[in-house]
Amino acid sequence: MINIKNLNKYYSNTKVLNNISIDIKKGEIFAIVGHSGAGKSTLLRCINGLEDYADGILLVNNKEIKNLKKDELREFRKNIGMIFQHFSLIQRKTVFENISLPMQLWGYKKEEISKKVNDLLALVGLEEKKDAYPSQLSGGQKQRVAIARALTLDPEILLCDEATSALDPNTTTSILNLLKEINEKLNITIVIVTHEMEVVKQIAQKALLLEHGNIIGFDD
Ligand code: ADP
Ligand code: ADP
Repeated sequence: MINIKNLNKYYSNTKVLNNISIDIKKGEIFAIVGHSGAGKSTLLRCINGLEDYADGILLVNNKEIKNLKKDELREFRKNIGMIFQHFSLIQRKTVFENISLPMQLWGYKKEEISKKVNDLLALVGLEEKKDAYPSQLSGGQKQRVAIARALTLDPEILLCDEATSALDPNTTTSILNLLKEINEKLNITIVIVTHEMEVVKQIAQKALLLEHGNIIGFDD
């Protein structure tokens, strides 16, 4: 599903990803672990087409991302959901409105949006919070909203960038359990970037260790 071969990435003349090769299969939960600055977020941004790379091959569903034209890239990115450490919710919009946003941007009909958002609210267990604002939610609840929003366009891949780093250990476990449930129920491939070994232990089927842009270990 995601095939990376000999990928290199530079910021000006600093190499931040060095000769990275990874194969991630459909339905896997795959972790990329390493200290801050290792290149984890950069790698995720390459996978979802937000970041260009110097050379190497990066295929998602057998398509080379850097060859995609602008409108193809937009279509491609529908297939990839993403969640972040600080949730990236819009503060002046309700839970329901936050989750609706991607479907609104893609011009879905009101009834389709409403059905999908209600289904996702049930999946993440936040039905009774649909009219609340982000400031009225706990960290774990905010991440549940972000997860629901990431799933609205039925992506095959979910990228998680330090998605539990702002949460306490119990909340982390509950979010990881939700991600496992989503992986099993919806057969979504999940790629998790984290600096926390505990997260890897709890959820990952495969993990690789990244340091200064190099893969220094692999565990499967
Ligand atoms: P991680 O996610 O593992 O913390 P990052 O991918 O954010 O690592 O960063 C990898 C390296 O690239 C770091 O040295 C960081 O400072 C640098 N970096 C990240 N983004 C940029 C950017 N937009 N421009 C220049 N350097 C960057
Ligand atoms: P994280 O550690 O959560 O991965 P960072 O705080 O390293 O994220 O980076 C936050 C943002 O700043 C990112 O968009 C990244 O691309 C950018 N960035 C990080 N390091 C640099 C840098 N050295 N020069 C320019 N931009 C950077």
